[in-house]
Amino acid sequence: MTVRVRFAPSPTGFVHIGSLRTALYNYLFAKQNNGKYILRIEDTDRTRYVEGAIENMIEALKWAGIEHDEGVVLENGKLVQKGEMGPYVQSERLEIYQKYIQKLLEEGHAYYCFCSKERLERVREEQKNNGETPKYDGHCRNISIEEAKRRIASGEEYVVRLKFPENREIAFSDVIRGNVVVNTNDLDDQVLMKTDGFPTYHFAVVVDDHLMKITHVIRGEEWIISTPKHAYLYEVLGWEAPKFVHLPNILNKDRKKLSKRQGDVAAEDFKRKGYLPQGLVNYLALVGWSPEDNQEIFSMEDLIEKFSLERVSKSGGVFDTDKLNWINAHY
Ligand code: GLU
Ligand code: ZN
Repeated sequence: MTVRVRFAPSPTGFVHIGSLRTALYNYLFAKQNNGKYILRIEDTDRTRYVEGAIENMIEALKWAGIEHDEGVVLENGKLVQKGEMGPYVQSERLEIYQKYIQKLLEEGHAYYCFCSKERLERVREEQKNNGETPKYDGHCRNISIEEAKRRIASGEEYVVRLKFPENREIAFSDVIRGNVVVNTNDLDDQVLMKTDGFPTYHFAVVVDDHLMKITHVIRGEEWIISTPKHAYLYEVLGWEAPKFVHLPNILNKDRKKLSKRQGDVAAEDFKRKGYLPQGLVNYLALVGWSPEDNQEIFSMEDLIEKFSLERVSKSGGVFDTDKLNWINAHY
């Protein structure tokens, strides 16, 4: 089995150093295993799209020495696709998502939902007032495909939702966190297709990771709560799920999630301030991963050799500027 991993940013602005570390770990794991590292652009949320963000991101990754084998690349200032499993930009894959959404609808694993924003808002408010956790109330779960088709033909707006069975356990195993088990009663019937015909992140990520033959999904821990939904999608689509690896957050000294308000968080900020890419990469590798001995200065080659998912910590890593400066001074 060839290891295939991906870094899948959304083009919403700058590259956060947490994302840079995610890209780095993916890269190191791929290189160590003679695998492939893919860059995929997740641009299905059109409201958050930032012009020029893809180009910036590719430049920042290149600066850091984290170059991909497949995906979207910049050639003479133009974005082009490299690899056989493309396109690697999700907005260019809409027909593919349509095909699988139809399959889920036909097999009864998904359904059309015609609820207006106002109705959903009203239900949420009522649930909150009753002290319940807001959740879609299943209003459209039993609309037949025939009726749905009539309503669509008459111009009604709709989304497509995943139809979770009631009271069933969904389990997956995370390489760092171990077994995670969730009951479907605690899950919302996730929207898979939006009114604008674009898939949501949850649907696109599963379809693409499968079609791009991704073996290990290495990403930030904020996605672990979404993974049961993904695991269920793999099941109903009849696909084998990849291995999941959720990385701990990078924290401020006060142990809160690293945020812009408390200092630099963009790769570009460090570049502008004259940090060497080797210094930043070396330091980031150590925020959340520890080598077997107490080596602190690493070249990219060293990191490729020594990195291991087993030694990624379960808890968040604190970002320490003094340590970064100390490491940076060694290059
Ligand atoms: N597009 C998601 C992000 O911007 C990627 C999450 C994932 O890797 O599955 O973080
Ligand atoms: Zn509905």
